[in-house]
Amino acid sequence: MTVGQRPLGVAVLGLGNVGTEVVRILHESADDLAARIGAPLELRGIGVRRVAPDRGVPVDLLTEDIEGLSARDDVDIVVELMGPVEPARRAILTALRHGKSVVTANKALLAQSTGELSDAAESAHVDLYFEAAVAGAIPVIRPLTQSLAGDRVLRVAGIVNGTTNYILSAMAETGASYTDALADASALGYAEADPTADVEGYDAAAKAAILASIAFHTPVRADDVYREGITKVSADDVKSAHALGCAIKLLSICERITDADGSERVSARVHPALVPLTHPLASVNGAFNAVVVEAAAAGRLMFYGQGAGGAPTASAVMGDVVMAARNRVQGGRAPRESKYAQLPIAPIGVVPTRYYVSLHVSDRPGVLSTVAAEFARHEVSIAEVRQEGMVDEDGQRIGARIAVLTHRATDAALSETVAALKDLDVVSTVASVLRMEGTEE
Ligand code: NAP
Repeated sequence: MTVGQRPLGVAVLGLGNVGTEVVRILHESADDLAARIGAPLELRGIGVRRVAPDRGVPVDLLTEDIEGLSARDDVDIVVELMGPVEPARRAILTALRHGKSVVTANKALLAQSTGELSDAAESAHVDLYFEAAVAGAIPVIRPLTQSLAGDRVLRVAGIVNGTTNYILSAMAETGASYTDALADASALGYAEADPTADVEGYDAAAKAAILASIAFHTPVRADDVYREGITKVSADDVKSAHALGCAIKLLSICERITDADGSERVSARVHPALVPLTHPLASVNGAFNAVVVEAAAAGRLMFYGQGAGGAPTASAVMGDVVMAARNRVQGGRAPRESKYAQLPIAPIGVVPTRYYVSLHVSDRPGVLSTVAAEFARHEVSIAEVRQEGMVDEDGQRIGARIAVLTHRATDAALSETVAALKDLDVVSTVASVLRMEGTEE
C-alpha cells in the first residue's frame, strides 16, 4: 500500500456482468493497483436498480441514487457500467460537472452524445475514458488516440460484434440457417433475449461511429453510419461464399474516401461482406473480435481478442481507471477529443466496393450474355462468373443460378444494376447481393 497519498474514491454505476468484475478486481487487486497508481482506490458506492443484501457486496455500498453517488464529495472517479443511454448520460454529466473523472463502456451513449460528454469533460478539466466501449478487452481506442497520434489512419475495419460473428461462424461450420444458428446462440447465452441491436447491426454501427470519430478526427454519430445486419444472410450465401474461397463476416468499416478532386470524406458502414479465407479477419471465429487498422506509415496492424464478457471488458475498464487515477495523482489529462479535421460523411452511394450478386435465371441460351450486358450498361465490371443448374426435389431442372463477382463499383451503380436485373424477363430472382472486402481489385 502506498503511504501518504490520499485514497481516491471510486463509484461504480452498475453491478451486472461488467460491474461485478470491476468490483472484484478493485477488491482483489487493491494493493497492486495502489502501487501502480501511487494511491489506494477506495470503493465508495455502487449504483443499482435493486438494493438487496443478496448481491455479493456489502449492502451499505449499494444505492439507487445514481445522481447522488455521482456527485459525492469523496468520489474522484465514476465508472459507468449501466448500459442504457439514460440514466447513464445524466449520471456522467453530473459526475463531470462535479469534477469527477469518468470511465464508461457505454458505446450506445458515446455514439450518440460524444461531443456533449467530451465538452463537459473539457470544461471541468477532467478525464473521460472509454476503452471498453469498442471490442471489450482489445486495446483499440488507446492505440488510435495515442500510439498512432503521429500517423495518418487510412482505414479501420473489424469484427466488433461477437454475437453476429458467433452466428455467422456457426452457419459456416454446420450449414445451419440464420434462424437455427440464432436459436442456438440464444440457448448458449451468446445472444440477448432481444437480439435486434446485434443482428441488425446497431451495436456494430455505434462502435463504427466511435472508431471513425477518433481515427479521422471528425465527429461521427451512429446515425451517420450506413447499416445492414445479418438477418438476410442465407445458408446458400454462406455456401456460395465458401465456393468462392470466402467467409461471410459482419464488418464495421471506417475509411477515408478520396474524391476525384482530391477532397476527402469519411465513410463509416456496417454490413455483411465476403472476406477471402486468406484475409486475417476470415479466421476470427465464434465470439472473438478483431480490428485491422491501416495507417500511412505504420502499415497494417491487427488487434484480436475477446470482444465481450464481464472479465475481459472489466480489464479494459480497469486500464482506464488506472489511467484516470494516475492522472489525478500525478497531474496530466487524457487526450482531449480531437475533431479538428471535420471531414464530411460520404453517403453510401459513392462508396466503392466489390460485390457478389447471385441470380436465379431461366435455363436457356443467351441468358448469361443478357445478364452480363446489364452489368456493362451500368459500368459495373465483372471479375468472375459462375453458372450452375438448379433442380427441384424430384431432380427436375428448374432454372440456373448465376453468381457474379464484380470489380470495385459504387453502391449507386450496383443498386441501379440490380434494379435493372430484376426487370429482365430471364431473371426470376436476385437471390442475394453482398459486398466483398479484403481484396485489392
Ligand atoms: P448488465 O449486466 O445488464 O448490468 C447493468 C447494471 O446496471 C445492473 O447492475 C443494473 O442494476 C444497473 N442499471 C441499469 N439501469 C439502471 C438504472 N436505471 N439505475 C440504476 N442502475 C441501473 O450490463 P453489462 O453487460 O454489465 O454492461 C454494462 C455496460 O458495459 C453497457 O454499457 C454495455 O454496453 C457495456 N459493455 C458490456 C460488455 C459485456 O460483455 N457485457 C462488453 C462491452 C461493453 P440491477 O442489477 O439492479 O438491475
